[in-house]
Order: sequence, then structure tokens, then C-alpha cells
Amino acid sequence: MSKRYDLVGRKFGRLTVISKGKVVKQKTTWHCRCECGNDVVATTGNLNAGLKKSCGCMHRDSARKVGQARFIDLVGQKFERLTVIRLIKNAKSYTLWECQCECGKRTRVRGNDLRTGNTKSCGCLNVEAAREEGKKHVDKILANMVENTNLGKIDSKIAKNNKSGVKGVSWNTRRQKWEAKIMFQGKRYHLGAFDSLEEAAKARKEAEERLFHPILKKYGRDPK
Ligand SMILES: [Zn+2]
Ligand SMILES: [Zn+2]
Repeated sequence: MSKRYDLVGRKFGRLTVISKGKVVKQKTTWHCRCECGNDVVATTGNLNAGLKKSCGCMHRDSARKVGQARFIDLVGQKFERLTVIRLIKNAKSYTLWECQCECGKRTRVRGNDLRTGNTKSCGCLNVEAAREEGKKHVDKILANMVENTNLGKIDSKIAKNNKSGVKGVSWNTRRQKWEAKIMFQGKRYHLGAFDSLEEAAKARKEAEERLFHPILKKYGRDPK
């Protein structure tokens, strides 16, 4: 065998040729040792053409490098109330991180939800927002409450289920009359039963003037 065709001792990428192998389909093969320690058989053609440079570990390594390039380490980063403590899972399509919330709780969040701002806390932010909303509602009622009267309610629009079109006036089917009522400071006043809606509305209006208007005026509100 001429020197040119003896590949023993030569290096091709990560492979070092150890010994000559069998001739397979009229092609000479060579036993090679890879840098990673694996043994592999390659043909003269593939080695010379640079088609075989490792046992296969080179492809695996470069694939891993691509994966690592896409991976962004978030440990130590802060996203609103959350500080990333450690990586829980590095899956193909997502990463999962354990985070410490400012409120003291720990929570697991996907990397994407952290980076896009979808998740800003363990959930405590939402709870606080809801509490704030509830407080506003109570504050509004309290601001309207004077002398055991909810001024907001006096001012309020006519109820949706009201069929007479007049606040405090309803049709009593049994008595076949229009009844007028008014609520004030927790008490219900019956203003009477009337044959016509106009009479009932008048009674209600008079009661409003008598009961509501003084307190509305006193607290600087315009009686309607
Ligand atoms: Zn290898
Ligand atoms: Zn929290």
C-alpha cells in the first residue's frame, strides 16, 4: 500500500485513524478514535472529503450551542415585584423560573411571562387592586352618608324594574290602585293609594320635597 493511501495516524477533525478496517462495497474503511473517546469506522472517501470529522459528537455540541444561544439566564433579574431565584425547567418551548415576590411568597413563572410583563407578582398585585376597587366603592357610599342617609341613593336614578315611570310609585294589582312610598333614614313611609298615577306621583313629589330636599340642600346638592 502506498503511503498516500495509508491513513493510519492521520487526523481528520476530531478523528484520529487507528487502523485499517475491512473493505466494504469496494471501499476501504478505517477505525478511528474520536477526541471524545468514541470509536467509529469511516471510509477513505468520507475522511478525505471532510464528510466525517467526528463520531457524531460535533453535531450534538453545535446543536447544544444553538440551544444555549436562545436560552437567556434570568437569575437575579427583577420583574416588578418578582426577583428570579433559580431555573426550574428549561424545556424546548419555554423556561420556568422560581421567583421571590416582594410580599414574601414564592412563585413559579414562565420566562416569557416575566419578560413580556404578563406576570408582575405572585398574584398579590391583583388581590391589592381588587381590594382598592372595593375600598373605593365603600368610600363612595361613606362620602354620601349623612345623618343616616345615603345622599347618593336619594339622587339615584329610577330603578330598572319600575313600571310606573315615577320613583316610589307602583301599581298594586290587588287593590287596583297606585301606591306611593318613600324611604328615608332607614324608614319606609306609605304615602297612600291613589286612583291615578298623577295623584300618586304628586304625593311622592311632595314627600321628596319635605324629606329629601332639606338634607340635599344642607349638604350642597341640587334636588332634582
Ligand atoms: Zn466524538
Ligand atoms: Zn406577592
